[in-house]
Amino acid sequence: MGLSELKFLAVEDHEFQRGMLLKMLARLGATQVSTAADGYAALEIVMSPGASIDIIISDLDMPGMDGLEFMRHVGEARIPVSIILASALESVLLDSVETMTRAYGVKILGVIQKPITSEKLAALIKLHLPAQANPNLTQTDALSFTIEEIVQGIRNDEFEPFFQPKVELASRRIKGAEALARWRHPQKGIVAPYAFVGPLEDHNQIDKLTWLILSKSVDFCCEWRTKSELDVSVSVNVSAKSLADVNFADRVTELVKCKSLDCRNIILEVTESAATTDIGHSLENLSRLRMKGFGLSIDDYGTGYSSLQQLARIAFTEIKLDQSFIKSATTQQAARIILESSIDMAKKLGIVTVAEGIEIEKDWDLLRELGCDLAQGYFIARPMEHSAYHEWVLNWNRLVSPS
Ligand code: C2E
Ligand code: MG
Ligand code: MG
Repeated sequence: MGLSELKFLAVEDHEFQRGMLLKMLARLGATQVSTAADGYAALEIVMSPGASIDIIISDLDMPGMDGLEFMRHVGEARIPVSIILASALESVLLDSVETMTRAYGVKILGVIQKPITSEKLAALIKLHLPAQANPNLTQTDALSFTIEEIVQGIRNDEFEPFFQPKVELASRRIKGAEALARWRHPQKGIVAPYAFVGPLEDHNQIDKLTWLILSKSVDFCCEWRTKSELDVSVSVNVSAKSLADVNFADRVTELVKCKSLDCRNIILEVTESAATTDIGHSLENLSRLRMKGFGLSIDDYGTGYSSLQQLARIAFTEIKLDQSFIKSATTQQAARIILESSIDMAKKLGIVTVAEGIEIEKDWDLLRELGCDLAQGYFIARPMEHSAYHEWVLNWNRLVSPS
């Protein structure tokens, strides 16, 4: 897709600067550009039916609704748009605005410290294009399902885990895979968790998905180990709600043991906040799971509130450094320092570190340099269905250790 096919919205209160921005966009080949002088006008444009703006370039400091509030509304309305922020603010402040924007669930391409130049603009617009193509997934931003439809889909056995490899940074060897739930919808194609995990949790039905994904993952893990003697583990995401059931750990143990699989081959990923709700039952489950030998991983590490407390309280075996830090680490000093110290701390505690969202070689190189243990991300492979994953591992192993 060329620039002439993209729809831009330039939000800038300063008339002269707005004019300059329009000229730059035109020079780069953009032909569909709308403008707004503040957040209110901008929001009206993006929310209008049929607007389908692809990229918003927005100033931060504007009278009326400023750029910060505008980002919040864009995030809350889940408008599928890419954002470039521009401001004359100092760079540390811009870093936190970028982090805030991501926290609102907005897809941000980057921040430009003014003055804007065509080069800076072109470099960020480029980032919009590859992100669009994800052949494995249906665009789920626009999809929504009722809880009845989702539960019926589970009953019809339309859900399955896709697998994304976790690779050791130092040796490039595969250590395991994360199981990520997918709905093979008869009409809509492959649907990502975004469309069903939240509703299932809200309606206390998430257990249905947890058990389905766990039991299919255990089956596939056994199959790979016996068929091809692959020494791989599988990580499964466990919702906070499932941990509230005091029998959870025993049920998982039974499931794994009856397939004669070693508990060490299953890692349960819990988000930081998950371990803190219904604290008694969660802690009992987590402690019992550790006692039985399961791996325990803190997912999205760094986004919760009490990281260190969690680590001290439960013997976690792994932390997954959140994608937002990886995305920012090559450009933001603060994110890099957080990564560095998290990895350092994990090493001292004997905990495995996994970097999520490794998208480009630069991310891989940086995390390797920082001493992170494992990497997961599109740079290595996207999540794929079980048979494709099996093939992928065999090929990868041939490449990494040619006989
Ligand atoms: P998560 O556990 O943090 O999983 C990582 C997410 O990052 C996955 O999204 C994965 O596809 C995506 N990802 C991996 N590499 C990259 C990369 O290089 N760049 C980018 N931009 N993204 C990457 P996915 O599959 O859409 O899953 C989203 C979330 O849904 C998961 O986040 C997890 O919290 C939840 N989820 C997935 N499967 C299950 C499940 O079976 N049960 C529960 N309770 N939650 C699940
Ligand atoms: Mg996970
Ligand atoms: Mg994660």
